[in-house]
Amino acid sequence: DVRVRFAPSPTGMFHVGGARSALFNWAVAKNQGGTFVLRIEDTDAARNKPEWTDGILSALAALGMHAEDPTFEGPYFQSQNVAKHREATATLLDAGRAYYCDCTRDDVAARTGNPQSGYDGFCRDRGLTYEAGRALRFRTPDEGETHVVDLIRGNPSFPNSALEDFIVARGDGSPVFLLANVVDDLDEGITHVIRGEEHLSNTPKQQLLWEALGATPPVWAHLPVIVNEKRQKLSKRRDKVALEDYLAEGYLPDAMVNYLMLLGWAPGNDEEILPFEELVERFRVEDVNSASAFFDVKKLASFNGEYIRKMSVAAFSAAVDPWLHAPRAPWTEEQFDAAAFAAVAPLAQSRVALLSDITDNVDFLFLDEPATDERSWAKAMKEGAAELLTDVRAALATLEPWAAEPLKDTVAAVGEKHGLKLGKAQAPVRVAVTGRTVGLPLFESLEVLGRERTLARVDAAIA
Ligand code: GLU
Repeated sequence: DVRVRFAPSPTGMFHVGGARSALFNWAVAKNQGGTFVLRIEDTDAARNKPEWTDGILSALAALGMHAEDPTFEGPYFQSQNVAKHREATATLLDAGRAYYCDCTRDDVAARTGNPQSGYDGFCRDRGLTYEAGRALRFRTPDEGETHVVDLIRGNPSFPNSALEDFIVARGDGSPVFLLANVVDDLDEGITHVIRGEEHLSNTPKQQLLWEALGATPPVWAHLPVIVNEKRQKLSKRRDKVALEDYLAEGYLPDAMVNYLMLLGWAPGNDEEILPFEELVERFRVEDVNSASAFFDVKKLASFNGEYIRKMSVAAFSAAVDPWLHAPRAPWTEEQFDAAAFAAVAPLAQSRVALLSDITDNVDFLFLDEPATDERSWAKAMKEGAAELLTDVRAALATLEPWAAEPLKDTVAAVGEKHGLKLGKAQAPVRVAVTGRTVGLPLFESLEVLGRERTLARVDAAIA
């Protein structure tokens, strides 16, 4: 039975890279009829906070990986398995695979003449017993190679001579991450370790630990690094990486899931936008690319727009609802007009990429005065704009009926008198009424806004 796991450390906001790892593991578990284990690696008490664990669980759920799903097992907590980690250090010691060491970093550097060099094996055969301050080191083989099966990286081999005798338990006796991670995987019956490339250098050491503990190592798969547009590894200092921030900005979970599934993998046939069930059906870890994956926020936004377009108007209206009210909306509850919103909802749905884009598209309906965007004004209110607006105003004052088609014909006719095509003639009208050069289709917008408010805004613009 295939058993995969996602093993985040709860040390911060849930990262989109973590979300991609979780999804790939989830996809394998789903399409192999296997199990997805969530293990919280919370042994670093100084950096862990329980709220980060809650954040992981809610982010996974937001992306469809629910703890109630039969595929989901856990969460387990690494901190609750410390007895097993210690047991493993004893096993290694008893089997002669580990030894105590009292060297300091400076001792090693003094002997090797290179502060960067790995451990030189000085204590290997000194037969030291435990005393506080003595670390336990794993004795790596001197010869041969460690072969790992990596489904993405073509089974790399690591010469054992290059693997130093690494520490498995610190001077206070506490087991280190490398070991705890292996013991937990072993304990949880993990068959496939699918994780970020940054762990690749740990893999030969961990594979040796699996073997030394008498177990058959798992199959590994190291997912490619995710980079920004400058080809730099995504980092929380430089880039927007928190999943929560994307959701708060109005990215839809389904669009996020779809986009994240394509970070290093493609379903084939140039198809990109597919329902998750279909992505799962097609997903094979073997097909994941080893080259770094570009996190293209523009592409993500365009996916999001496509997902928005696929919604029913009712679902769209429900999804943007939080942006239509306090605290997100810049208008008050009295200013908000549900009927006016309903009238423009389909127009807005066809244009927004993010749910949060709704604000700028509909604020002209609710704010007493339209937003003033200096650049839009400068661009549209050129010479002749005031004269044009004066004539438009006069024509609209008596227009019957007040409806999109006649509004358009009127502005077109006035524009023609001023030697302007419709596009040029409507620009100052749009800025006068909505405050911006871009927005919803203008004449439908004017129809919903009504004559009185339209004329008042044109007057204000001329004045
Ligand atoms: N806790 C480790 C991390 O968050 C997980 C390493 C692994 O997946 O083996 O990077």
